[in-house]
Amino acid sequence: MKYSTFATLLATLRTVTLACDSYRNMASFLAKLRRFSTTSVARNQPIGFVGLGNMGAHMARNLVKAGHRVIVHDKESAPVEELRQSGAEVATNPAHVAEQSKHVITMLPSSPHVREVYAGENGIFKSLHSGSLLIDSSTIDPAVTKEMGAMATEKGARMVDAPVSGGITAARDALLTFIVGGSKDAFEDAEKLLKLMGKNVFHCGSLGAGQAVKLCNNLMLGITMFGTAEVMNLGMRLGLDPKLLADVINVSSGQSWSSLKYNPVPGVLDGIPSSNNYQGGFASKLMLKDLGLALNAAKDTSSATPLGSLAMQLYQIMCDQGFDSKDFSSAYQFISKKERV
Ligand code: NAD
Repeated sequence: MKYSTFATLLATLRTVTLACDSYRNMASFLAKLRRFSTTSVARNQPIGFVGLGNMGAHMARNLVKAGHRVIVHDKESAPVEELRQSGAEVATNPAHVAEQSKHVITMLPSSPHVREVYAGENGIFKSLHSGSLLIDSSTIDPAVTKEMGAMATEKGARMVDAPVSGGITAARDALLTFIVGGSKDAFEDAEKLLKLMGKNVFHCGSLGAGQAVKLCNNLMLGITMFGTAEVMNLGMRLGLDPKLLADVINVSSGQSWSSLKYNPVPGVLDGIPSSNNYQGGFASKLMLKDLGLALNAAKDTSSATPLGSLAMQLYQIMCDQGFDSKDFSSAYQFISKKERV
């Protein structure tokens, strides 16, 4: 090859390499720009957050970590103080949160708490700005969601229901699944914030549709957790090692989220409530609440739910026997103490 040809080839290669580098830089710049543009609207404005329990504290902290000004409130002082130390600002009540932020997220136990926080004496509606966006991530009765949504509309605000699936580790790691109901434009605005706290964001239909999907999911979860607890207990009484049993089930047809990610037997998986004396996590009383909501929906639609009804009775007995504040995977602890009659 002639020297001049070789030099031309080298020059061409260099140009291509530089182009590739600048393409890579450009791609990375565009990715940054995309991320910025999906969050910039909200980043300019404070985000309000009410309900800093097992889930909400992680979710609010993830918003702080993403660089947002977050204004928090909870009726308990300890979680508020923890969030303050993580960089959040504190409001004295929900009205105070809504006064300072046009995006408000709530993560509360059940329907009465949501009614109180939104429509109570010092509730969000007291000082809600027209144009605000309300995101309720609590799992509640879809009828209450619609009632709150109508009140928000009267004030010129928009609301979505965005209940979550995934548990406390997914909340901590910003890997939640958000199941959203509401108008398309409200969903698109909410999605930008929800992506900072979760991995999957689904638009399921109009306001209340998120709750409907969530209730179906938790009816399944309540049943599979009890099934998993029952089977693990049987296997251990047959002399099997619980880790081995879980390993086999988790690549076999009996697998479920309850066996794979949230095994109820202590020591099978680290970092989940069953390995922490069933502390934290998703309280049995909240599962009982969700099953009640699902069975109400089944009644309204004349749907047969034999397993759901049985599961609900079992969680009711657990709650009556002192398991109410323990994580719902304590179904294993409950069942392992029972003898077949
Ligand atoms: P939690 O009981 O741990 O937290 C609720 C928080 O709301 C508490 O800190 C409580 O003090 C606060 N609160 C209650 N009433 C209030 C009021 N009037 N004003 C201000 N704060 C108030 O509940 P959680 O486990 O975080 O669950 C929250 C919601 O998410 C529930 O609807 C639950 O069904 C749902 N959920 C929970 C999980 C889970 O794994 N824990 C998973 C998916 C969905």
